[in-house]
Amino acid sequence: MRQKLVVGNWKLHGSKAQLEDLLADVIAGSENLTSAVEIGVCPTYVYLGHAAQILVSSRVKLGAQNVARAGEGAYTGEVAAQMLAECELVYVIVGHSERRQLFHESDTEVAEKFAQVQASDLTPILCVGETLEEREQELTDQVVLGQLDEIINKVGIEAVANSVIAYEPIWAIGTGKTASPEQAQDVHKTIRDHLRKQKEDVAATVRIIYGGSVKATNARELFQQADIDGGLVGGASLEAEEFISICNSAD
Ligand code: PEP
Repeated sequence: MRQKLVVGNWKLHGSKAQLEDLLADVIAGSENLTSAVEIGVCPTYVYLGHAAQILVSSRVKLGAQNVARAGEGAYTGEVAAQMLAECELVYVIVGHSERRQLFHESDTEVAEKFAQVQASDLTPILCVGETLEEREQELTDQVVLGQLDEIINKVGIEAVANSVIAYEPIWAIGTGKTASPEQAQDVHKTIRDHLRKQKEDVAATVRIIYGGSVKATNARELFQQADIDGGLVGGASLEAEEFISICNSAD
């Protein structure tokens, strides 16, 4: 039985004071969640050390939104996976569509980041997803599985077991348009079937979470689908009550 996972991606939002308030409310709300759900938050880099101190005795896991493709070196402005590991992190998002689109991250770069994260004993949350144009051209499976295969080719199928896959249709991110539970389930099943062809136990254990305008009002139906193991939540994770209500939908 896969434990559900709900992770908030706070992106480039909030001040230190807002982070403290939000974390306090999320920690308080998390105390009443059942053990059926694991909860995490990904604040911006500069607050990670502070967030780690606040979260230390809570059940809320900490994640980063990005990582360097290299372990060390002359890469001004970058942050290495090992440095994140030292800040008591658990998760690192790699290949978010905003990174792929706005910062031109290639599949190769995403695969290098994925490998760096695992080499530092952290868990990558690998984002995959298609644009609206690709969906309309019926290229969804090809795009999503192609992004996944880049990772498998780099680290091998066994390593995928120690990761989380986030299916995030780009047309649903921050747009208010959510994939229907059936649309999301179809893609999640395609991903799991693809893994199953290579390694049955990896397919059975890896968590595949959905992202794209998840809200308290649509979370339960999404999370009830057979292959949807939780959510990666952007906008709605910035409001503690809404976020906790989404987490509650995962039990
Ligand atoms: C995201 O950015 O990962 C995301 C899912 O955002 P939103 O929930 O705001 O669509």
